Amino acid sequence: MPDNKVNKAVVCPMCGELGKAEIYTSVNVTKAPGFRPRVLEGELFSWTCPNCNYNARLTYPILYNDMKNRFMIYLIPKVDRFQLCDKELEEKYGNLRNISKRVVPDFNSFKEKIFIFESGLDDMAVELTKVAISQTVSKKLDGAEVNEGYLSMYDRESNTMGFTYFTGEERSPYVQTARLEIYGKSKDIVETFAIKDKKLKGFIKIDREWAENILYRYKRNKQIEKLNRIKT
Ligand SMILES: [Zn+2]
Repeated sequence: MPDNKVNKAVVCPMCGELGKAEIYTSVNVTKAPGFRPRVLEGELFSWTCPNCNYNARLTYPILYNDMKNRFMIYLIPKVDRFQLCDKELEEKYGNLRNISKRVVPDFNSFKEKIFIFESGLDDMAVELTKVAISQTVSKKLDGAEVNEGYLSMYDRESNTMGFTYFTGEERSPYVQTARLEIYGKSKDIVETFAIKDKKLKGFIKIDREWAENILYRYKRNKQIEKLNRIKT
């Protein structure tokens, strides 16, 4: 068995039979491109009970490595750490320069990161843009709650990107497009306020919480500049 594959005991949630599943702890889509669709379509996480044929979705940590596009995404279900920097990982991947390394807590964020990096975008700037646009969406919907959203479209030719948000208590999907200028502005903010994060070691979590933090620093700085102008 290759070193990225392990056997895991699974108890069928339907009939209680103890079975086993072969799971991948990591996939390298540059060396084995066939894994990309298997991951994205969820096939790799699907398990069928040999006793009753019940189909279950397994959740387990998996490291996705795209050497060609220079990114690695570590999906660790429900991870709540901002930075993952364990010794073994650093020894294995620490010497890789200019590789974006991210950790994500769920499958949707995992798929989104893959889409962002394959499109050649900066995920930090995308997160900032997403927060900015979510405020526009909330205003349009009379202040409805807009917490979760994903980049769902990117078109360089028409100069637009689109986000799908889940809004209100019913979590109805809402698609909002934006011009790339907002993304450009977000990139400038990243260059000024997130330089330190760009140099962090290990796998880091770049999400809404992170983006709100950066935007807070950006706005506070703008206020300080304004105050200084008044003083002098
Ligand atoms: Zn079963």
